[in-house]
Amino acid sequence: MRRNRNVKIVATLGPASSDHGTIRALFDAGADVFRLNMSHGSHDEIAARHRIIREVEQETGRPIAILADLQGPKLRVGVFAGDSEELMDGQRFRLDLEEREGDASRVELPHPEIFAALSPGATLLVNDGKIRLRVDECGPDFADCTVMAGGTISNRKGVNVPDVVLPVAALSDKDKADLEFVCELGVDWLGLSFVQRADDMHEARTRAKGRAKILAKIEKPAAVQAYDEILVASDGIMVARGDLGVELPVQNVPPIQKQLIRGARSAAKPVIVATQMLESMIESPVPTRAEVSDVATAIYEGADAVMLSAESAAGQYPVEAVTTMNDIAMEIESHPTHREIIEANRRIDRTTRADAIVSAAREIAENTGIEAICCFTESGTSAALIARERPRVPIVAITPHIATARRLCLYWGVNNFLLEDEVTRFKMAVVGAARTARAAGFATENDHIVVVAGVPFNEAGTTNILRIAPCDERLIFRSDPE
Ligand code: PEP
Repeated sequence: MRRNRNVKIVATLGPASSDHGTIRALFDAGADVFRLNMSHGSHDEIAARHRIIREVEQETGRPIAILADLQGPKLRVGVFAGDSEELMDGQRFRLDLEEREGDASRVELPHPEIFAALSPGATLLVNDGKIRLRVDECGPDFADCTVMAGGTISNRKGVNVPDVVLPVAALSDKDKADLEFVCELGVDWLGLSFVQRADDMHEARTRAKGRAKILAKIEKPAAVQAYDEILVASDGIMVARGDLGVELPVQNVPPIQKQLIRGARSAAKPVIVATQMLESMIESPVPTRAEVSDVATAIYEGADAVMLSAESAAGQYPVEAVTTMNDIAMEIESHPTHREIIEANRRIDRTTRADAIVSAAREIAENTGIEAICCFTESGTSAALIARERPRVPIVAITPHIATARRLCLYWGVNNFLLEDEVTRFKMAVVGAARTARAAGFATENDHIVVVAGVPFNEAGTTNILRIAPCDERLIFRSDPE
């Protein structure tokens, strides 16, 4: 099945989308990547969804990527004698390590690592940022605060500490167990929450042992600050706007989204824009005009993927939400303004021969009436470099590895195919590319394609050949060098 758009769609699975029929319908409507959210659902439920995705992959013959999103450590207050309390603006409130029920003057915060990192003037947020506390005095086991924005505080509400880098690892014990579980099941991407520094990525990579690529979820001000190093240590990025909008003023999120997309695009790493894209579709079959504009903005910015969370996981209209995203993407990408903006934002430091080859492939394809850029890719690197060019013509990536084919589902514009025949010589690669391009409807016998490959085959990172080839096999055999 050929998608008629370049941006990819990530659909989160959940109670509204756990059966075979719905997952198949989500795929047919346009979902390229399924997200398993490890914050919800038992291991049995996760394994059942995973099994169905792989069944749909078999039925459709199309590689599908699975992204397992790890929850990350959760910081929470303790409990109250009356289950909840009202905090008033301007009142004093204490957080401490005492294991007893809270009241209107104090509550337990069972995280010594938070107290260790606090200093006077720091902000603590409770209940998704609805309550804001300013630290006046603090020690290793307490923080005396002034309530800057009051409200109801109740048992085990979440706490965010936006101003400081916490001495907390991004992987909790639950995350370590979940990571091992999903890597054994076989997922293509892992999403890491609570990333504060590049070292957080290194730890996850050590544990994943090459079994999955790792996305950094950028959800904390510290991660925005350390973005350049985190990007180097990551295989991809998620703009996690839900948590970002709690830890930072909401008006800071759009420029950060632009900055994160720009960085990931120029590093040839896929970037997903996540959270509240079509939020109203949890309960409504049609989105708001503002939501449509939000999805369009991410597409204009050149994001690799746009994501649905509760809309597809727990909403009343999961399939309609994917259809809506697909329709928005097709309309935006077909308008001339899209091309203008995408090209104006192309910022690439071309330093390697592979960079030069893919850039030349785009120029040739766009300027000489070529129908598709085809590449043979072992690790996916050549396909990622071509995707970074954001070419006008389709990208056809052919790989002998199912893991590579699946991972490439997240990259802008990449149509990925698993190679059945073994390719040992370049001429066979050209024939394979022409057959694939024709069979998938990207070219006819009368067209030409550009083929990019690395020789010797079976070695990653050797992009060193560019060939303009006819799609008619008789002409390939007549004109191709040995
Ligand atoms: C987010 O914060 O936007 C996000 C995607 O993370 P979570 O899964 O924790 O909502």
